[in-house]
Amino acid sequence: MEKEGLVRCVQFLESENLVMKTIVTDRHTQINKWLKENQEHVDHRFDVWHLAKNLKKKLVKLAKDKQCTDIWEWIQSILNHLYWCAVSTPDGNGEIIAEKWLSLNNHVINIHTKHGRVFEKCAHGRLPAAQNRKKKWLKADSVPALKLNKVVSQKAFVRDVKKMSPSQQTYGVEVYHSIVNQFAPKMYAYSYTGIYCRLILAAMHYNENSGRKHAKTRTGQLQYTVKFPKAKKGHVVRRVNTAATYEYVTELLTETLGLCENNVDEEPFDGPDPLSSRWEKPDKREILGFRGLTDQPSIQLSARMHYCDKLSVPTQANRRHMEGGRTMLLGKIEFPKLFRVIQVGDFGITSDGGTYARSDLGKGMETKTLHVPTSTSLPDAAHLGEMPFVIVGDAAFPLKPYLMRPYPGKNLTHQKRIFNYKLSRARMVVENAFGILASRWRIFHRRINLHPKNVDTLVVAGCILHNFLLAPS
Ligand SMILES: [Zn+2]
Repeated sequence: MEKEGLVRCVQFLESENLVMKTIVTDRHTQINKWLKENQEHVDHRFDVWHLAKNLKKKLVKLAKDKQCTDIWEWIQSILNHLYWCAVSTPDGNGEIIAEKWLSLNNHVINIHTKHGRVFEKCAHGRLPAAQNRKKKWLKADSVPALKLNKVVSQKAFVRDVKKMSPSQQTYGVEVYHSIVNQFAPKMYAYSYTGIYCRLILAAMHYNENSGRKHAKTRTGQLQYTVKFPKAKKGHVVRRVNTAATYEYVTELLTETLGLCENNVDEEPFDGPDPLSSRWEKPDKREILGFRGLTDQPSIQLSARMHYCDKLSVPTQANRRHMEGGRTMLLGKIEFPKLFRVIQVGDFGITSDGGTYARSDLGKGMETKTLHVPTSTSLPDAAHLGEMPFVIVGDAAFPLKPYLMRPYPGKNLTHQKRIFNYKLSRARMVVENAFGILASRWRIFHRRINLHPKNVDTLVVAGCILHNFLLAPS
């Protein structure tokens, strides 16, 4: 997605005859690759904050190592050094930035000269004597120093450090995106027109308010506020900006009124085709046919017991439920994922097999009153003879002439393992049906806080709606 956005952006800039000289991005690998291959003349730089974020993660992990706790007090200084490396090299010379960065390995063990060819000695002045320092130097060749060296000198990281952006950062874009989040919260989905308008509104707000001035008190003093962010220990001082303005709203209203007065009817636009439209959609029937699955209800009858959830109703009257009773949904599923036979209710505390045997479904199959079609040959496999219709169940079900279950146990022969695998593939239909049911009606994902009688109704209603939505006819 990021790459597609960039490609379209570059195309747009080119169509407007704007020449791109430098681009600053995060370390997205696809973008990196695309720019390298398609935009060689562009100076591609990385945003320092993104590198620092990645580095901090590694340093914190290192400092948590029992042998390397000394690293803790160095983390902030190392991050500052990373920023300094970028900012102090305005021409963005990668070699110099890298040498500056790697000089850190010497600095932390109290060596400040003879770093490299271009950057020979540290840029700081005289440091206080070791005994007067807050931070202790690491000992050369000690475990923390060696491990820190490994993190700092990591090849891929140094390669990216060389491309750090000295002046421009992506901070502005991040701020714009946080404004977009206010105009178009991520928890809602929008139509193309909806998101388009919101992005433009956010851009208008950003353009009007991004350069707000530092607020002053009545007496002319600059205003600051002290915050206590959760992510950081302690306090942070932030400057207070002047209040946001909304001039663009007035402008928009005037424009809209003008359009209304002049009876201008803007054509609504549908937006471009979705990204997925580029790929040719294969024919669903073809795929199903390929997998040996057709619309004919051949062997896709399967059953599964599903625990909607353990119910707890805190009254003595419902003791059976207090004892861990459960509402069960026993379903027979027919391709394509429709519930054909269901039984909902409390089956007491019995094994799954017992539950099945005492259920109407089990009894119906046993006494052959469920109108299961008679044996017939499989599609394109008449030579195999007539095959019975069977229920596909998991290990909880008993083995019956009309019920296939996997071979139990672990040390199975190759053939039996293959059989179990094929059977589990067939069971996927029913697993999917229950999955869809629970995902669509989220209440089945959690403990249901209702009277057991109502829970039964709820489950039945869920199944009916499920069938209706999948096959409205
Ligand atoms: Zn130094």
